[in-house]
Amino acid sequence: MTDQRARHTAERFREVYGAAPAGVWAAPGRVNLIGEHTDYNDGFVMPLALPHTILAAASPRTDGVLRVHSGDGSSGGGQIAELRLDALRPASDGGWAAYPAGVVWAMREAGLPVGGADLHYDSTVPVGAGLSSSAALEVVTALALDDLYGLGLTRQRLARLAQRAENAFVGVPCGIMDQTAAACCTEGHALFLDTRDLSQRQVPFDLAGRGLRLLVVDTRVKHELGDGAYAQRRAMCEHGARALGVHALRDVQYAQLPAALGSLAAAPQDAGPGGGPDVRAAVRHVVTENRRVEDVIARLDAGDPRAIGPLLTDGHASLRDDFRVSCAELDLAVAAAGAAGALGARMTGGGFGGSAVVLVEEAAADAVAGRIVQAFAAAGYARPRIFPAVPSAGARRLV
Ligand code: ADP
Ligand code: MG
Repeated sequence: MTDQRARHTAERFREVYGAAPAGVWAAPGRVNLIGEHTDYNDGFVMPLALPHTILAAASPRTDGVLRVHSGDGSSGGGQIAELRLDALRPASDGGWAAYPAGVVWAMREAGLPVGGADLHYDSTVPVGAGLSSSAALEVVTALALDDLYGLGLTRQRLARLAQRAENAFVGVPCGIMDQTAAACCTEGHALFLDTRDLSQRQVPFDLAGRGLRLLVVDTRVKHELGDGAYAQRRAMCEHGARALGVHALRDVQYAQLPAALGSLAAAPQDAGPGGGPDVRAAVRHVVTENRRVEDVIARLDAGDPRAIGPLLTDGHASLRDDFRVSCAELDLAVAAAGAAGALGARMTGGGFGGSAVVLVEEAAADAVAGRIVQAFAAAGYARPRIFPAVPSAGARRLV
């Protein structure tokens, strides 16, 4: 399947650019198993790579020109975008080409000897579904350039360059999780990442071997309040850390939480606009969420993946009630999954739409998925897209 797609992508490259590519690379989308809104608090996250990938067929160029073409017309692909490397400026191009251009820009800004390239992309990662097609696009570009120009960069370095591209060139203030997942995940594992020191560990997550399945429920909802709401959550977390005298909320231990909440109760509460969390609720979410990541790891290390179900559902309640980043469709997906006998479920990603993950017994997977679809129909919502999240490989060269 992958071989066939790689051949097809190479063939499309030849049609677009008139010569065979030097190689074909892949990078996956991801879901986050647990650890939400912790990455800008120096906390813990635990993503896994999906089987869905963006493939890049690429060749180097010697004339300082970058050309990009995407098979995904809905993203503004279909046309070749041509850019001169010495004219790349942050936020100069609002279209999708800013993602690959930003990677080249970040590499050159870091003093790396990277030149021009022709790139053609072919994707099976749903765009804008919270599954991080943007990071897959950046990381596959970074890996292709790393190989084409013999840079010899580590996976972590590729991830940081990709994040820099998205932050400083595209202008999206994302954390490091998505790019690290795309660059570093391995098959059959979830990736534990400490976003403070970027240390990481592959945690065995063999779903099929244990008769389990993790479903992704893409609600197909994207609420527009996203940006301002994200900024408000970050501000509340920073406010909380300042009030508690710590560098980041990561520094508040779970055992200290009651005392921390007590001390914050004495301070004036400025709840955010638009129904956002007050500072105590924000602190409670981040501190308990970091604890849930540690508990999930302990249960997986103990060989008991079924036992993580309640932690996922607790995490959803915290995101819904304390951090207030869920929405009616995500809440319905989680409630319907629970009512249909799922082991646990939660929203995943930034919130206000996007996707949920549902842990189910393999034998019950179809029935649970059917109940979620029914619940959405009864509520008058668009039909969700549901598929299994098989823990898959990170970025790699295919051809
Ligand atoms: P997410 O990362 O959750 O999928 P984002 O809004 O962060 O959503 O990134 C989506 C953007 O990434 C698209 O609007 C497009 O600009 C770019 N993109 C993703 N996949 C592709 C692709 N296959 N071809 C061209 N652009 C893509
Ligand atoms: Mg993204």
